[in-house]
Amino acid sequence: MTTTESPDATGLGTIDRGAGRIDADSKRMINARADVNQLLPMKYRWAWDKYLAACNNHWMPTEVSMQADIALWKSPNGLTDDERTMLKRNLGFFATAESLVANNIVLAVYRHITNPECRQYLLRQAFEEAVHTHTFQYICESLGLVEGELFNMYREVPSITDKDAWALRFTQNLENPDFATGTPEADQHFLRDLVAFYVVFEGMWFYTGFAQILSLGRRNKMVGIAEQYQYILRDESIHLNFGIDCINQIKIENPHLWTPEFQEEVRGMLLEACALEVAYARDTMPRGVLGLSAELCEQYMHFITDRRAQQIGLAPIFGEQENPFPWMSEAMDLQKEKNFFETRVIEYQSGGALDWD
Ligand code: FE
Ligand code: MN
Repeated sequence: MTTTESPDATGLGTIDRGAGRIDADSKRMINARADVNQLLPMKYRWAWDKYLAACNNHWMPTEVSMQADIALWKSPNGLTDDERTMLKRNLGFFATAESLVANNIVLAVYRHITNPECRQYLLRQAFEEAVHTHTFQYICESLGLVEGELFNMYREVPSITDKDAWALRFTQNLENPDFATGTPEADQHFLRDLVAFYVVFEGMWFYTGFAQILSLGRRNKMVGIAEQYQYILRDESIHLNFGIDCINQIKIENPHLWTPEFQEEVRGMLLEACALEVAYARDTMPRGVLGLSAELCEQYMHFITDRRAQQIGLAPIFGEQENPFPWMSEAMDLQKEKNFFETRVIEYQSGGALDWD
């Protein structure tokens, strides 16, 4: 396979001893010629700012007490059967979803993003995905759930398998060792993967799950898990916004990739992904629970899909004007969340100081 990718796109090539110093203008999101090992001079301040925000949001799942959740889960009348089904399928989706996202970053995306400030953020995001997977290990152990049931749901529950299989097609295009960006076809493959994982997986499919658990928490049920999901939601809203900024910056630098045909294809991807999520909502809540129903989740997903389309410069798909879960938009607003979590953030910043004595 011929490649037009720079000989040192990875950053692991032979050092060019005679090369001139780089300037920020020569940096590019993909197919850069500039040395990918030089963070400074910086070009994409938005990527660095997200790295700093993510570090300030550091948390660990084990800091959250699970005592109330354990008592409620073990009490015979603590949760209805429908609530238990919803909770288990919700956890079952996330338990492996975080791993799929992590593997896509590390094994597919990272290599082809030829910019050090974006790579710095990706390294932080990869760690956060490990923290999220840790959360599901901790919940599973705390509640005494059957490990094999939770972690096999992505193979055994069709509405979960359908979503994961849909997304995996896009990362599989990139994991071929011969794959290289640098042709319009390959660069569009790369953009499709960013849409599938950042816009769809983290930006649409996580949100039904967040709504379900935060809805339980608002009713004082499974409050430990609800608190952990709020931290995950806070992380994920940065992941989503990083992905959207990457897509939009690649579009600016490579306008030839964003053809009318390609835009229609991406809108088709969002439409398919929305249908998969609606099917998942029906499957996790066949009769509706907690003031949530599959119908309301469908309306919510139409609203979210339109918002995501607009964020990457596409016309809305459904024209859904009303968010049926207005309380979710508060949880999604990063600025408000930062204030909400301020105490913890400050604790971390001082607690992280090293003592050399
Ligand atoms: Fe995550
Ligand atoms: Mn994520």
